[in-house]
Amino acid sequence: MQNGISSPFSEFLRQINITALRIPSIRITDVIDILLVACLIYIIIRWVKETRAWSLFRGLLIIIVVCLLSYYLHFYTLTWIIENTLSVGIIAVIIIFQPELRKALEQIGTGAVTGVSGILPTPVVAGKITHETANEIYKACINLSAERTGALIVIEQHVPMGDVAKTSGVSIDGEVSAQLLQNIFVNKTPLHDGAVIIRNNRIAAASCILPVTQKEIGQELGTRHRAAVGGSENSDAYFIVVSEETGKISIAKEGKLRKGVDAREFRAVLEKIAEGGKSPAININKIWKGKGKHEK
Ligand code: ATP
Ligand code: MG
Repeated sequence: MQNGISSPFSEFLRQINITALRIPSIRITDVIDILLVACLIYIIIRWVKETRAWSLFRGLLIIIVVCLLSYYLHFYTLTWIIENTLSVGIIAVIIIFQPELRKALEQIGTGAVTGVSGILPTPVVAGKITHETANEIYKACINLSAERTGALIVIEQHVPMGDVAKTSGVSIDGEVSAQLLQNIFVNKTPLHDGAVIIRNNRIAAASCILPVTQKEIGQELGTRHRAAVGGSENSDAYFIVVSEETGKISIAKEGKLRKGVDAREFRAVLEKIAEGGKSPAININKIWKGKGKHEK
């Protein structure tokens, strides 16, 4: 008889008492909780990959693996050293990651990361520059480029550049006009060195010193271009460079440099900023549509 035979499988089922098994009830808050954690992990991974934190993070992973191995294999001396340096190590990690942590906190503070939900409206840079301001910047850069006068113009977005302007620049608070911009960058004048910062349709400051990038951006490019890229690594502003040597216009944004853009392309970028380009932050809508990182 079939009933009399007890197969290992039915024995197993009997042992685990399948009727007692039930799927735990899932509340809506659990789903939200899981989604939030998934988003958080995604943001951290993306942030780590896009900043120099990635190489530091890999180093950290190796150390964690060594710690675990030494603990489970009972390497007493190594475990003792690790235990005693752990607290110092945590402080060291905070110090090493300080610029990245600062940037992340600034982004959260300015609402850039809130766009992650895709539910909350993505912050828009409305009114940061008007079309008139964009036009004045355009005219100034085209003229500076034709004259081969070097220039560096920062168009501020969400992250305020106030500290740069205060510590190194000269406050101006003037209306943006092509003439004033061109005048500032005339060679040998007191304000021509350094960057001009444009904030809320005003020339906030000139002669500002930006942090130079440590990245390799090309042998032919000097400190002006390095400062533009360096600045863009630390803020979400647009950095426009007019080269004194070649007259070419380049734009740095989020640590990347678009070299030698032509007049049409340059105008298009300025118009995009004037229209209140969407926040550069992580946007689930974009990711969902598969545009994310590689979008031009
Ligand atoms: P160009 O193509 O115009 O020559 P470049 O990238 O080769 O640009 P340099 O020739 O080194 O750069 O340009 C020097 C000028 O760049 C300085 O006179 C100064 O105005 C500006 N500059 C240099 N360092 C900084 C900085 N840290 N922040 C802002 N501006 C800077
Ligand atoms: Mg040069």
